[in-house]
Amino acid sequence: MSSKSNDQKTGLLVVPGERLGVIEEFIPDAGTYVKEGVIYSRVIGRVLIDLVHRKVSVHQLARGAKVPITGSTVVGQVSNAQSDTAGVRIFEVSDKNVSGAFVGILHVSDVAMRYVDSMYDICKAGDIVRAKVISEKNRTYHLATKDKNLGVVYAFCTNCGDLLEPRRQGMHCPKCGRIERRKIASDYGKGLIERRKGDIEDES
Ligand SMILES: [Zn+2]
Repeated sequence: MSSKSNDQKTGLLVVPGERLGVIEEFIPDAGTYVKEGVIYSRVIGRVLIDLVHRKVSVHQLARGAKVPITGSTVVGQVSNAQSDTAGVRIFEVSDKNVSGAFVGILHVSDVAMRYVDSMYDICKAGDIVRAKVISEKNRTYHLATKDKNLGVVYAFCTNCGDLLEPRRQGMHCPKCGRIERRKIASDYGKGLIERRKGDIEDES
């Protein structure tokens, strides 16, 4: 059970200060620091868990990181979604990685041009979204996804976790057949996924 969740942690994008585990579980390696027995990420990057040697490290992403400002286009992962709002952990600003931990909030009135009843029809926790920063206060960024090129760029099936594919009737899960709703960006499934594939295999 716990080794399965550690397995899933590998490849996760983390920001500085993000909890990776405790020293009883892992030996802290590159890109990490320890405070009171808890291992945290020191950098923005992807987690690598070496299950054989019980080591955890973070592979740092490219430098030249940026801070979001009002007007920036950002990319982040939905951390939670309620009926009115969704929290977004921002990791990219204007195609550059962010230099710190930034939290964005998306309100249901800012997601689409048309009236939207519930955030559950727009995005769900775990989705990757592209949004525009419409205001900022105390490092909290208010986001909007009203434009065509904004919205979910990468969505997972709530049932099985597989990548959803856009179909006429909605977002379709190729694995379990579930249909879900999202407000997707015009280039859904293109940019980020290709980049992600490139991380794993260098062909194509
Ligand atoms: Zn599914």
